[in-house]
Amino acid sequence: MTKIAPDPSFTVSSLPPEISTKLQQHVEGEILVDGASRGRYATDASIYQQFPVAVLVPKSAEDIEVALEVANESGIPVLPRGGGTSQCGQTTGAALVVDNSKHFRKILSSDLSDPDQATVEVEPGMVLDHLNAHLKSHGLWYPVDVSTAAQATIGGMAGNNSCGSRSIAYGNMVHNVLGINAWLADGELANFGPYSESMGRAKALGDYVKHLVDDLKPEIDAHWPKVMRRVAGYNLDVFHPQSELPYTLDNSVNLAHLLVGSEGTLAYFKSLTLRLARLPKHKVLGVVNFTSFYQAMDSAQHIVKLGPTAVELVDRTMIDLSRNNPAFRKTIETALVDAQAKTVDAILLVEFSGDEHAPLLQKLQDLDALMSDLGLPGSVVMMPDAAMQKNLWEVRKAGLNIMMSLKGDGKPVSFIEDCAVPLEHLADYTQALTEVFSKHGTRGTWYAHASVGTLHVRPILDMRRDGGLKMRAIAEEAAELVRKYKGAFSGEHGDGLCRGEWISWQFGPKITEALAKIKTQFDPQGLLNPGKIVNPPKMDDSAYFRYPPSYQVITVQPKLDWSAWNVQNNPVTEAVTAAGTGGDPAQGLAKAIEMCNNNGHCRKFDADVMCPSYRITRNEKDLTRGRANTLRLAISGQITNTSDTPPAHLPLATQAVKEVMDLCVSCKGCKRECPTGVDMAKMKIEYLAQYKERFGHTLRDRLVAHLPNYAPIIARIPGLPALMNLRNHIPLFAKIQEWLTGISAQRSLPVWKSKHFWNQAPLPFASPEELAKHDKRVVLFADTFNAYFENENLQAALALLQKSGYAVHVAQPQKGQEEQKPFCCGRTYLASGMVSEAKSRLSALINHLATYANEGIAIVGLEPSCLFTLRDEALTMDLGEAAQVVSKHAQLLEEFLASEYKANRFAPNFKESAQPILVHGHCHQKAFAAVSPALELLKLIPNANPQLIESSCCGMAGSFGYEVEHIEASKQMAELSLLPRIRKESNAIVVADGTSCRHQIADGASREAVHIAKVLESHLAS
Ligand SMILES: Cc1cc2nc3c(=O)[nH]c(=O)nc-3n(C[C@H](O)[C@H](O)[C@H](O)COP(=O)(O)OP(=O)(O)OC[C@H]3O[C@@H](n4cnc5c(N)ncnc54)[C@H](O)[C@@H]3O)c2cc1C
Ligand code: SF4
Ligand code: SF4
Repeated sequence: MTKIAPDPSFTVSSLPPEISTKLQQHVEGEILVDGASRGRYATDASIYQQFPVAVLVPKSAEDIEVALEVANESGIPVLPRGGGTSQCGQTTGAALVVDNSKHFRKILSSDLSDPDQATVEVEPGMVLDHLNAHLKSHGLWYPVDVSTAAQATIGGMAGNNSCGSRSIAYGNMVHNVLGINAWLADGELANFGPYSESMGRAKALGDYVKHLVDDLKPEIDAHWPKVMRRVAGYNLDVFHPQSELPYTLDNSVNLAHLLVGSEGTLAYFKSLTLRLARLPKHKVLGVVNFTSFYQAMDSAQHIVKLGPTAVELVDRTMIDLSRNNPAFRKTIETALVDAQAKTVDAILLVEFSGDEHAPLLQKLQDLDALMSDLGLPGSVVMMPDAAMQKNLWEVRKAGLNIMMSLKGDGKPVSFIEDCAVPLEHLADYTQALTEVFSKHGTRGTWYAHASVGTLHVRPILDMRRDGGLKMRAIAEEAAELVRKYKGAFSGEHGDGLCRGEWISWQFGPKITEALAKIKTQFDPQGLLNPGKIVNPPKMDDSAYFRYPPSYQVITVQPKLDWSAWNVQNNPVTEAVTAAGTGGDPAQGLAKAIEMCNNNGHCRKFDADVMCPSYRITRNEKDLTRGRANTLRLAISGQITNTSDTPPAHLPLATQAVKEVMDLCVSCKGCKRECPTGVDMAKMKIEYLAQYKERFGHTLRDRLVAHLPNYAPIIARIPGLPALMNLRNHIPLFAKIQEWLTGISAQRSLPVWKSKHFWNQAPLPFASPEELAKHDKRVVLFADTFNAYFENENLQAALALLQKSGYAVHVAQPQKGQEEQKPFCCGRTYLASGMVSEAKSRLSALINHLATYANEGIAIVGLEPSCLFTLRDEALTMDLGEAAQVVSKHAQLLEEFLASEYKANRFAPNFKESAQPILVHGHCHQKAFAAVSPALELLKLIPNANPQLIESSCCGMAGSFGYEVEHIEASKQMAELSLLPRIRKESNAIVVADGTSCRHQIADGASREAVHIAKVLESHLAS
């Protein structure tokens, strides 16, 4: 096989055919060679981008062995990857990237019998949270609690020598890894563990390093940072300990520690043995309030002497951000000594934990006494309550998210965000660095690990313009400070492309040379993640930037209004320019796509929604991040495929984009849960509009989109509804329909009715004039689905409102037109990419509703996807002031009633429920935080005990679950948690507001779910 030298720039060509063939023939997993797939693996959470030669998603250990064999034969390097959440470009490289996160996530063995000696052996793709979820019932955990715990894999954490918030108590990865079984570059497996027990290749390599270190001791003494948070280079100090916290309990040498922090450059981890810790039974929090940031930093060195498990900083910017956010105001105020005072400059969250509560309370008293001694009496808010603590930690996390969601090309850039300095210098260091920022026309928000002198800070830089220059200047000045205070330049996030060049600065030439020798000894051909730690590029080499100065966006006229993203920002004040002035050739669409900073938060499996497609496939392409990256590459012309070249103005109309959008169910989970608010559901509308413009609409598109048009016609023709319903009873009809339209024969369709909401006389709707006479009044929006297929929901809502004393007007077009074109929110058109039709339908509805909204009257709807179109998409369709006012008044029935209840205007008398109630929130309901009002109302029903089903999307998602090519994916989404929970509670009433959700529940669990309107109305006592 011919050897090739991969091009380190991001324009590298893909895998040579003979290598591709060999891989395809010999591996069980997936080989991804197309430009879009490679592009999705070209970035991590850093500012860098390098296209891999190809991507392997291995299914077996043999697949990885083949990859190493091919590397040895061809010279193409191998780059192991976990969640790809590194901040310094560690996982970007012109290599064969191997993604362990999909299939290598098993616990291989464990010894949990003695909690104090407990260990576990895991595969490298195991995610930290998933491991800890398993350990919880044993009263144990793996205590390296990185912020990315829901995404970070154990292999990646070991690769980076990651550190958590509680490292002061538990140490970093290097302190908690007991052994690593790894492939060396030539494919041989070696066991790295206690040096005294080592054998074979591992022992030989250990001996080699020991020999080097023996000669280097004076250099190490002189140059090695003595702080615990030093993660740069290789851990030579295994043989000459330097860390504040010894790597092993007995000061012995463990060769696995040489591999920890090696960033995939020395060996490929096959399995890792970890030391576990007892889960503390109790935690208390003391929140120290400071009127001076300097004082806060200066106090950290004294506070740590009390033995806390965490000391975390939240600075004034974050306090203010939280104060200004209605969702967080109350919580942040609980942390302030004087909730109203605006003088707090910083707070330190000081956590103590242990098995007994009383000693921890004493610790809080000690903290209070200490602060008095330091001249700050009464500055501690004591939080012994677990729920309050949890809320405050959430606010700390959310503050960072708000900071990261700054719009415009200037972004908070991570490159000196984890320098670690000894605590006695923390105050001077942070003050001096703040001055450096100011000198360079920017500023940073400080947060995180005060306990170990590692404060995170990201100055705002525009990498497309002068960001590279400023980055170097700031890094150089920061480095001088780090040297002055004898700290570590790389204290948490590793070296990667960003800090590699600083290794020689930190350690001097002799140690740097030794690192290169170690690399050569382990990996003579340079096959494992080259360019990291040894022979790194310059941090500001723009050839490696994701947004180099040459980055360009294709001119596009989007269908929706994205101008809110088309802005620039002031790096000091963070003020943004007027909407539409950002200079985006795609009118803001590109800048909205570019909001994805690759932090990988969407790779999660917790109780929230994002991202259902990834949850079922674990494919990068089915992830919000994968989609955003694909859109970014497409809109900036970086995916070139000669057999699929779209017209210049439709860059998203390609098979590559179609492939990633295929399983996006437009649930809006990302809109709410992505830290930067990437709104893929809205982006999917743009893609669909472009794609359908290029390739045309299918029959199915038209059937779905025009449903609101033909529903009244079908309902009106005698006998036709019954005829249509035959499809649900005669399998042949369903099969023919599937063949003609692609609507799955496995699904029943909504049942047509000749008697529907609009033709059930008399309709006791209040006229606008009658409405004007009432104090309690409301406008009800009857959507197509509830009006024509489930009119009992609208009837129930009407009855509930009227019995509760409301005058109800139901929005209807002019008399005589209602049978032809009832009002419609346009949702079905948007789902088919027919934006102008959606706009015309929505415009008629909004113009009608605006009359009432202008009077301050609530517009109430039942179907979440329809109602929230008024709150969301309608605002981006150029519908003017009317859309704004309607959006402010549009509410789900439960939102309206819950607020009326709080205002003492709705006082229902509910009778007892005979059954408990389970609630499934529609995705859009969750996206707009409209589930809690439902629970609040249901709690008013005696004995109902409503429980929220912790589920992602139900998988039906409008027409998605009916589509023949998606039915299996749809069922898998429902089976993730929704259907199993419903089956488990066979006696419960299941409440679901979404018509599709109800359908999925009926199909999958054979249970009839009901709209909340029916539950509330049927429980009215009188
Ligand atoms: C918002 C945010 C917050 C963060 N917070 C923290 C934090 O609190 N503490 C912290 O330490 N870091 C933090 N990080 C950085 C990052 O999340 C961590 O370093 C994390 O542990 C990386 O895990 P991963 O699975 O994504 O690894 P990846 O990024 O995929 O890989 C990391 C390194 O490990 C190597 N590697 C992966 N698998 C193997 C293997 N099988 N064999 C050999 N090498 C391998 C890779 O080549 C790479 O060099 C944060 C990042 C972000 C975006
Ligand atoms: S889509 Fe959002 S959550 Fe996912 S990686 Fe991008 S910014 Fe992070
Ligand atoms: S809209 Fe839903 S399915 Fe689509 S990317 Fe966002 S979270 Fe994933």
